[in-house]
Amino acid sequence: MRIEEVQSTSKKQRIATHTHIKGLGLDANGMAISLAAGFVGQAAAREAAGLVVDMIRQKKMAGRALLLAGPPATGKTALALGVAQELGSKVPFCPMVGSEVYSSEVKKTEVLMENFRRAIGLRIKENKEVYEGEVTELSPEEAESTTGGYVKSISHVIIGLKSVKGTKQLKLEPSVYDALIKEKVAVGDVIYIEANSGAVKRVGRCDSFATEYDLEAEEYVPIPKGEVHKKKEIVQDVTLHDLDAANAQPQGGQDILSLMGQMMKPRKTEITEKLRQEINKVVNRYIEEGIAELVPGVLFIDEVHMLDIECFSYLNRALESPLSPIVILATNRGICNVRGTDMTSPHGIPVDLLDRLVIIRTETYGPTEMIQILAIRAQVEEIDIDEESLAYLGEIGQQTSLRHSIQFLSPASVVAKTNGREKICKADLEEVSGLYLDAKSSARLLQEQQDRYIT
Ligand code: ATP
Repeated sequence: MRIEEVQSTSKKQRIATHTHIKGLGLDANGMAISLAAGFVGQAAAREAAGLVVDMIRQKKMAGRALLLAGPPATGKTALALGVAQELGSKVPFCPMVGSEVYSSEVKKTEVLMENFRRAIGLRIKENKEVYEGEVTELSPEEAESTTGGYVKSISHVIIGLKSVKGTKQLKLEPSVYDALIKEKVAVGDVIYIEANSGAVKRVGRCDSFATEYDLEAEEYVPIPKGEVHKKKEIVQDVTLHDLDAANAQPQGGQDILSLMGQMMKPRKTEITEKLRQEINKVVNRYIEEGIAELVPGVLFIDEVHMLDIECFSYLNRALESPLSPIVILATNRGICNVRGTDMTSPHGIPVDLLDRLVIIRTETYGPTEMIQILAIRAQVEEIDIDEESLAYLGEIGQQTSLRHSIQFLSPASVVAKTNGREKICKADLEEVSGLYLDAKSSARLLQEQQDRYIT
């Protein structure tokens, strides 16, 4: 069986503006390095997040979650991504916004459930071996003398594969033997045999199997005929949601591994609770058999105050599950109403959930930090900008928000190019800032010109 990638369903766009974040940038003692892993400033929050990473590693965050509280664009998403990256490079990171649950088509808890499953990774290890060689017939004595525990009973048919590197003897299941007969394989033919963790899965003539997957080259390469090949471990990282989506319309095959090979085109498929339970069962079996390993990732829910009481009670329950990812919540609200109730509560989060939270505050950036962050973003986006312009953008950021000033980079670079320059200069920024309003000025304008708008 060939392992092809299950189509990943991870949300790439949402983290596009955070590509420079590679971790939390802490030293061996857990202290924040002023500029490291793409992170600038926000030292206390990064150090506190580092401690949470330690707690997660020591399994002390079970049933609990992290809340990042601070003004907009103070790096809450960046911190959550940093935590995921500190946990490992293949740890899934699933960002969502609270208001996403209010879709007219899908139930609120269904949206949450899907995102939970996007944040739980599964590392599937397959011990795949491919043998190819010339078929030889073994005498019962030869078969019996086979070492390595392959053959104890000679009631099974033995096929020997002769190759330049010697003879490999394999025990074949009756079904595989049938397949060989069907193929009219005879002594002297060149055939391949694929095995997964010792069990023969597929056989055929070499004419129909000219390639194998080269792990290093990451492509299918031709197999030189007449050699015995052996491949060790194939590792594939998927999320539970990838498996749900890939199996939403099953097309034959019983086990996940065979279903995984079926590339699914993105289309609307219904993932039912029953399907999820089936997937969980197979996943649990693979975990027990040691074929798969769970990789709990990070579910990041921004603007958590947008969730309502029904969602919060779902969150409470989901945190208790052994299949729970690390949940990081973020909000920029103070005391406000808990949606769906007439209670008010800190951050709009019910007290029973607040009780389970570790809370980290993020602070607004000073001009130097903003300029440093802007410089990093400009570099990542391959935008040339002079010092004076960076300082000016920093000023704009101080008056509006960091996000607003970051957003100026692309249009300003377009303006610079239109004016025949590669490098952004202050005039380009002035031109752009004349065109766009930031949230605060827009609100002020609305207030001043209230009578001109339909209310
Ligand atoms: P909101 O709560 O409004 O969603 P936020 O607090 O999550 O905002 P981010 O989106 O993380 O803020 O930050 C805005 C931009 O600034 C992003 O591109 C982010 O990667 C970058 N950024 C924020 N803080 C830092 C930092 N300390 N170091 C480097 N980049 C940062």
